[in-house]
Amino acid sequence: MPAQIPAVDYLVLGNEPHLQVWRCDDCSAAYFDRRNGCARCFGTAFTRQPVASEGVVRAFTRVERGAKEPFTSVVVDLGEGVHVKANLRGVDDPNLITPDFKVRMFTYVVGTDDEGTEAVAFAFEPVGS
Ligand SMILES: [Zn+2]
Repeated sequence: MPAQIPAVDYLVLGNEPHLQVWRCDDCSAAYFDRRNGCARCFGTAFTRQPVASEGVVRAFTRVERGAKEPFTSVVVDLGEGVHVKANLRGVDDPNLITPDFKVRMFTYVVGTDDEGTEAVAFAFEPVGS
């Protein structure tokens, strides 16, 4: 298996790829990117924590104009105060996206460098697909 690197810091690869947040030790606010201070309570101590790989769509937009291929961008509620923005695959008709539409994360290779190292990103797909 070729070497892989995640496209973003908060994507953890391996047998069970997942996202992780920095959780404020004082108020439990969650952030995907590392912070010096908490925007909610000004705390300065954070702990890395894995988050669920399944969630529900809270908002979405379909981009058809100006895109090489039309795509659907979603905001996924992963529970415990964590929301993530990503692309949704496997649904070409936005009319099929209903309130609390269930999705799960998956990873895919976005590119390979000259040494064969793969860059890996994540997106979401409907649960059950
Ligand atoms: Zn805080």
